[in-house]
Amino acid sequence: MSLIIQKFGGTSLADAEKIHRAARRAIRAKCAGKQVVMVVSAMGKTTDKLLELAAEVSPDPPKRELDMLLTTGEQISIALMAMAIHAAGYDAISLTGGQLGLVTDSAHTRARIQAINRNRLDCELESGAIVIAAGFQGVDAGGEITTLGRGASDTTAAALAAVLHAEVCEINTDVDGIYTADPRLIPVARKMSVISYDEMLEMAGCGAGVMHSRAIEFGKKYDVPIHVRSSFTDTPGTMIMNETKGMEDIVVRGAIIKANLATIVLTGVPNHPGVAATIFAEVSKHNILVDDIIQNFYDSGRMANVGFSTDHAQLGEAVEVCSRLSAEGGFGPVEVDDEVCKVSVVGIGMRTHTGVAAKLFNALAKARVNIHSISTSEIVISCIVRRDESHRALRAIHDAFELDEPPENEQ
Ligand code: ADP
Ligand code: ASP
Ligand code: MG
Repeated sequence: MSLIIQKFGGTSLADAEKIHRAARRAIRAKCAGKQVVMVVSAMGKTTDKLLELAAEVSPDPPKRELDMLLTTGEQISIALMAMAIHAAGYDAISLTGGQLGLVTDSAHTRARIQAINRNRLDCELESGAIVIAAGFQGVDAGGEITTLGRGASDTTAAALAAVLHAEVCEINTDVDGIYTADPRLIPVARKMSVISYDEMLEMAGCGAGVMHSRAIEFGKKYDVPIHVRSSFTDTPGTMIMNETKGMEDIVVRGAIIKANLATIVLTGVPNHPGVAATIFAEVSKHNILVDDIIQNFYDSGRMANVGFSTDHAQLGEAVEVCSRLSAEGGFGPVEVDDEVCKVSVVGIGMRTHTGVAAKLFNALAKARVNIHSISTSEIVISCIVRRDESHRALRAIHDAFELDEPPENEQ
């Protein structure tokens, strides 16, 4: 029997009416002869509200306790969803991360999935029930409750889709697909019918909040097609899938802003072999995310400024670690800029087409946006710019690459 994963995000479950609507979508799939696993997020802005509550009680809550608190959000949703399905006359069972056998490492608040034991899931599915899984949560080997990072219900969904060999992993959300840019920021952005895993992975990594990066990694690794679609309409959304012939003809697929960034630079670092290794080993030991590395040399190459961009939320920790490193190594002051953000363009066509960087820089120059630093990879070009100039930058880039126009050969 074919199996489908249907994930519903917070906005799609914000009230009882929306819970019923999501329940009806799952029941329709069940009546069409499929086994159904729903993955649900916390209702509306519950997770944000729980975080605010935690901040009222403590300036620095223990991460274990944060996980204990945040997982209650998803637990409310699974129970209510099961009740809604029962009320409609169908069988359903809610399962927390631990109950569904989702085992993670022990990195509280940003744990990674290690295994999913499918015994319980198989048992419930065989009984004919719609299984309702709590997104975003798991347990570590010692039974401690963990969470997988903000937005990671997508990752629960994709991981379950991989383990259960689902025909498709549906991401039901408040937007009807993946757009060439966040449609809230660029109203003329265009919905795509398909996008490759690699492009979506990079778009998510560059800050497109519509999907959690690790969900796409699972999709790619286990070849699960992901369908991002609206919870509220039946129009087809965007398929995230393997690259097909012709996709490379589209040079730039999307433009993205990563807003919550900060840069941190250790100045006065002697340019010796091994110095960067020491710095980044220490940063990684503290699980601090390194977005892009920034490095420049002076004093005829004898000295360097070495730094990186990181999530704004990790800035405090990053400053602590870098200040300690600087004091121990006798370096200069640690410079912090938390008024920056990153704009990027992504497209697999960059592998075979030239001139993308020039066009991007030209668009930013015309919009009078100053570039702080640049990073590139095979299918991405990113620039760090001032946060208050970021929307202007995004608009300029979207216009310059004419992303609102359908490409000739779009599939
Ligand atoms: P959910 O609660 O369903 O997980 P999210 O808020 O995480 O939903 O993701 C959906 C939002 O992602 C949309 O409302 C949209 O503003 C934003 N978004 C950012 N970039 C894009 C993009 N390129 N295409 C579509 N939506 C995007
Ligand atoms: N509720 C969690 C969050 O808000 C997980 C999710 O929605 O994907 O981040
Ligand atoms: Mg989300």
